[in-house]
Amino acid sequence: MSTEAGTDGPNERLFARAQRLIPGGVNSPVRAFRAVGGTPRFIRRAQGAYLWDAAGQRYIDYIGSWGPMILGHGHPAVLDAVQRAARDGLSFGAPTEAEIELAEAIAALVPGVEQVRLVSSGTEAGMSALRLARGVTGRSKILKFEGCYHGHADALLVKAGSGLATFGVSTSAGVPAEVVQHTLVLEYNNVAQLDEAFALHGAQLACAIIEPIAGNMNFVRASLPFMRRLRELCTQHGALLILDEVMTGFRVALGGAQSLYAAQIPGFRPDISVFGKVIGGGMPLAAFGASRDIMSRLAPLGPVYQAGTLSGNPVATACGLATLREISLPGFFDALAARTRALVEGLAAAGRDAGVPLVGDSEGGMFGFFFARSFAEGLPQHYGAVMATDQPRFNRFFHAMLDRGVYFAPALYEAGFVSAAHTADDVAATLQAAAAALRA
Ligand SMILES: *Cc1c(COP(=O)(O)O)cnc(C)c1O
Repeated sequence: MSTEAGTDGPNERLFARAQRLIPGGVNSPVRAFRAVGGTPRFIRRAQGAYLWDAAGQRYIDYIGSWGPMILGHGHPAVLDAVQRAARDGLSFGAPTEAEIELAEAIAALVPGVEQVRLVSSGTEAGMSALRLARGVTGRSKILKFEGCYHGHADALLVKAGSGLATFGVSTSAGVPAEVVQHTLVLEYNNVAQLDEAFALHGAQLACAIIEPIAGNMNFVRASLPFMRRLRELCTQHGALLILDEVMTGFRVALGGAQSLYAAQIPGFRPDISVFGKVIGGGMPLAAFGASRDIMSRLAPLGPVYQAGTLSGNPVATACGLATLREISLPGFFDALAARTRALVEGLAAAGRDAGVPLVGDSEGGMFGFFFARSFAEGLPQHYGAVMATDQPRFNRFFHAMLDRGVYFAPALYEAGFVSAAHTADDVAATLQAAAAALRA
């Protein structure tokens, strides 16, 4: 049980102190636990599959820094690479051989990516991919899907307008209407809306950007017919297809989600791919890549400007390279996927035993679960359906698990992650805690 039944434990004291100096006490909103209530845990250290908070409580970590920690925390080969790189210099602002090696590694794993540019965050990568698509096509309008998150660039902080002919409405103050007037937002997995939107706007669209498996509305796969149609329509209308694989890249499979779609849709390939999270292995690093033709439009070769003081940072690059090396070992993803599947299937079984309709899905080391309204309901297929699942029940479950030492994402619209450090015993302990939590 939690060592912090009281209201004045070490986490509470740190949260009070943080709130005086940092807006909401956190440097990224979801960390503040606003969706689930309660006090965020201040993490003191991590090792393998575990986190320890300021009160000394241990948690099995199913967030993994929101995806990057696919090897678990403190993997010796990664730490060694980081320490060696740091000793050689923290940053040069000049090219290094390690950047070439990371670009080679990405290009070798992702067909269609012939050139890569490294940046420092997924936000930067998504924003730059968008500018590149607009620069290449000479068009302004962009298409995105409700529930997908592509970082917090102005033009992408948009929710659906009131109809297909209308463009988006910003979800954030500080974004002028003029900046989002070119952003069209459609329902995820809705083929009819796709057809209608391309018929209306196809000739003006620079690109469509999508999370192939959406992890920012828990876990929702793009259906095969939807992805196939999206690819066809982009090609027909001369719009670029951007796959945002910041979460899914090197996480759901070695070749990312695009390798799973390519296996089932002949000739499937995005025009631009966006990566982050796992490719930095826990350090600030992200990337976008495409064919040599598209990437040659970037500065210094072409007219699309893009730059970064810390881009390709040597320590981050060493960390990413070491991580990619480990996940490329034979059998890595089979083992990770089996463990993740065991977790999700176990949770669903615990739900059935307790009479609670819990549905889940996973791919590679990424998973999601939902509290449905009835046992007849399947997995949600779009944002509206995700938000219609049982939020109060999710929040109670989240806290019941946290009290039992299991750290799931603190919001029902976030995906979960399993690492190679999670053992069968960790999963068994999680399922035991879940059975008790669901009974209570
Ligand atoms: C996390 C995420 C981003 C943003 O990456 P940051 O490094 O947080 O800026 C973009 N797209 C997707 C799909 C993500 O999951």
